[in-house]
Amino acid sequence: MGTKFVYDFAEGDKDHKELLGGKGANLAEMTNIGLPVPPGFIISTDACRAFLVDGTLPDGLRAEVDEHLARLEQTMGKRLGQSDDPLLVAVRSGAAVSMPGMMETVLNVGLNDESVVGLARTADDERFAWDSYRRLVQMFGVTVLGIEGDVFSGAFDALKQERGVTEDPELSADDLRALVATYKALVEQHAGRPFPQEPREQLDLAVDAVFQSWNTDRARLYRRQERISDDLGTAVNVVAMVFGNRGAGSGTGVAFTRDPASGNQGVYGDYLENAQGEDVVAGIRNTLTIADLERIDKTSYDELLRIMAILEKHYRDMCDIEFTIERGKLWMLQTRVGKRTPEAAFRIARHMISEGLIDEDEGLRRVTGAQLAQLMFPRFDEAAERTLLATGMGASPGAAVGKVVFDSATAVEWAARGEDVILVRKETNPDDLQGMVVARGILTSRGGKTSHAAVVARGMGRTCVCGAEALDVDVSARSVQVRDGGVVNEGDVISIDGTTGEVFAGEVPVSDSLIVQHFEGEVPAASNDLVSAVARVMERADSGRRLRVRANADTPEDAARARRFGAEGIGLCRTEHMFLGERRQLVEDLIVADNETEQQAALDALLPLQRQDFTEIFEAMDGLPVTIRLIDPPLHEFLPDLTELSVAVALQEQRQQQGGDPVDDRDRVLLEHVRRLHEQNPMLGLRGVRLGILIPGLFVMQARAILEAAADRKAVGGDPRPEIMIPLVASVREFDVIRLKIAQVAAEVAEERGAVDHLVGTMIELPRAAILADHIAESADFFSFGTNDLTQMTWGFSRDDVESSFFSTYLDNGIFDISPFESLDTQGVGELVRIGTEKGRSARPGLHVGVCGEHGGDPRSIHFFHGVGLDYVSCSPFRVPVARLEAGRAVVSEQR
Ligand code: ADP
Ligand code: MG
Ligand code: MG
Repeated sequence: MGTKFVYDFAEGDKDHKELLGGKGANLAEMTNIGLPVPPGFIISTDACRAFLVDGTLPDGLRAEVDEHLARLEQTMGKRLGQSDDPLLVAVRSGAAVSMPGMMETVLNVGLNDESVVGLARTADDERFAWDSYRRLVQMFGVTVLGIEGDVFSGAFDALKQERGVTEDPELSADDLRALVATYKALVEQHAGRPFPQEPREQLDLAVDAVFQSWNTDRARLYRRQERISDDLGTAVNVVAMVFGNRGAGSGTGVAFTRDPASGNQGVYGDYLENAQGEDVVAGIRNTLTIADLERIDKTSYDELLRIMAILEKHYRDMCDIEFTIERGKLWMLQTRVGKRTPEAAFRIARHMISEGLIDEDEGLRRVTGAQLAQLMFPRFDEAAERTLLATGMGASPGAAVGKVVFDSATAVEWAARGEDVILVRKETNPDDLQGMVVARGILTSRGGKTSHAAVVARGMGRTCVCGAEALDVDVSARSVQVRDGGVVNEGDVISIDGTTGEVFAGEVPVSDSLIVQHFEGEVPAASNDLVSAVARVMERADSGRRLRVRANADTPEDAARARRFGAEGIGLCRTEHMFLGERRQLVEDLIVADNETEQQAALDALLPLQRQDFTEIFEAMDGLPVTIRLIDPPLHEFLPDLTELSVAVALQEQRQQQGGDPVDDRDRVLLEHVRRLHEQNPMLGLRGVRLGILIPGLFVMQARAILEAAADRKAVGGDPRPEIMIPLVASVREFDVIRLKIAQVAAEVAEERGAVDHLVGTMIELPRAAILADHIAESADFFSFGTNDLTQMTWGFSRDDVESSFFSTYLDNGIFDISPFESLDTQGVGELVRIGTEKGRSARPGLHVGVCGEHGGDPRSIHFFHGVGLDYVSCSPFRVPVARLEAGRAVVSEQR
């Protein structure tokens, strides 16, 4: 097809948002299903893109607009701006995704000094005509000519004051005529040009301005934050005007077909009589509810309800709409699928299934894991009295209460004495890290969702509100000035909601999530309609999903909770923490031992403790697989800090030289070993399988503890399913060394306590392992991708070092769309997962493959793992329901 830039509403439909923009596509859709939409046409995003590339309107566009305008004039039986009975139009921007920062709508285009007289005569209403004209000059002045809005509103307020009136409708026709003269003078003064009288010039300038507005700073910033491509462009809708400002029988309104907050049935919205455009949402006069409309204008009300029912049936979803009533006749000006809270999303999906509008699979598509996660966070009690100080961006969810502190050192100090603190900063930087770690929550007055505070807080799972601009943070004065009055000082208690971005004064009581209580088995599904909506969706997800969901759990308590939350086993049981606390001493003994007997003694002491750990976990996960990772981190992590110990020994030496007690032998030996084990780059050092090969006794002891525990469980009638997992394998030869040792232990245990079925597999967390997965699979019974390390090793950066230093800059520069630790880098790291899985299965058909990084609980990553054909994901117990839901959604979204 040649160049076609302009489409009549009758030519489009809702599935062409990319070309027609969301607003245009839906106007076309409504037109085509017979709803009363004022006629008009759409200048497509193709034209905008051409304009953005060339800097001028594309060839042929003008002729096409001529043609469509002529057709519109014919339909309406009047010409644009014609002096006796003018056609007026609205010029409205509309991109594929709705976006702030784009040009505001200009209404009443076509009015000028002559046509305003014609309009007054045909409408037989002087006041209405001049009201429309003053609106045009103002809107055109601000949005097309770029004049500050205050210039006009100042003049408007001055006039109202002069006349002694408060409400717009109280101004007379003469007042408004005078106002137009003032406005026109203001245009000349501020724009250096007169207000254009030629209707077609008004239209062309407005269209041009819409295209230009694609690149305003605000629009660009928003697109960058929301990862919307800069190349989409916007469409322009040119729509015949209808008038809500023609007296009492007219008005304008906005409505939702159901309650977007709760999801409950019923009509929700606002209506304003004798008003035009944004008046209804601008708060200039008190609005009425849609229910009031029933009283004022029953016919229009019934028509509105009839149309909303049609829209819901047609879109099979909750819609939001804009409408205008002109002297008793209802016109639809916009619709789209409405935004809603997580709670509403679940309720609406459930209700629509019951109403037969959608099926169960569609219901599953309509809710997201992110929404479920939001419902699982503890919440501030909505019934409690709360004083809102400001609203920023909800950057990392949760409800946090604490005392305000202004710097990292204070946060650390106060937290150490047991206080809950909220770290409040203008913005954070890497120096604030310690404070962020100890704080209950983080609040900043600047920065968006990719600011340092937001990125780091999300990485740590810490509640964070950022960009609360109504707060003026003065760190040196140790206080926050609240824009609407009030001051918050250091030590004052505040409450921040990382989901809604709200900041409250004082302590707001926190209530447990009902949904969590349900997963815990404390609240039955039937007791509450939200809970039952969630439960039904979960059932559907569980029955369809291919991915199994396991949990990362290292304690019997976590294992039990994970199981209640629906985990089908443990995908990662870390053993490091089992060497801390009192047992640290035994690890020290192991390291400082200078002969095999001493070493064995330390291991012998650890064995029964480890066995007990595993026995309890097998019991909690009876009948389900438990993947236990042999010890991974470098040994120095279990030893005292090098600097501290060096200082302590140096002090002792000094004392000794001055004739005091000699240096403690144990300290001296320990220091030697700490020095020996010290690494410049522990992440790439002696850890994982390397440790197991260097100090075989450690892995052997762990394997024995696992197998003995399993044998003991079997002996008492349990059904343990141990899977022993070896970390950080790069070569099948490493794996084989350990595998052999485990086989020996297994034989011994079988002899002593009876045989247990078990698997020995490996983590795939080094690029080399993924690339040589076919070799490794010859020996390994199963694979589990450790995507945290795999991400670090693939990108070559360590999370602890880089996340707080340069990630926010990388995000701002668009190098990352999202942190690769939050959501799998499917292109790079994901490719290794794919290669590893395929190669592994090529050597061992049916090889069981899972993933145990934090990505196992991330929706986007889960869809990817589903696509690659993994057998399961493993995530923290709390994320298990989210993973179950997304694994189910992965199936139904594939089917569409
Ligand atoms: P937004 O994208 O901000 O919603 P819209 O283009 O929908 O902007 O329009 C802003 C206001 O102008 C809305 O309140 C709408 O009702 C009104 N409006 C838009 N087109 C017309 C029209 N043809 N006649 C009367 N009012 C209109
Ligand atoms: Mg609108
Ligand atoms: Mg690892």
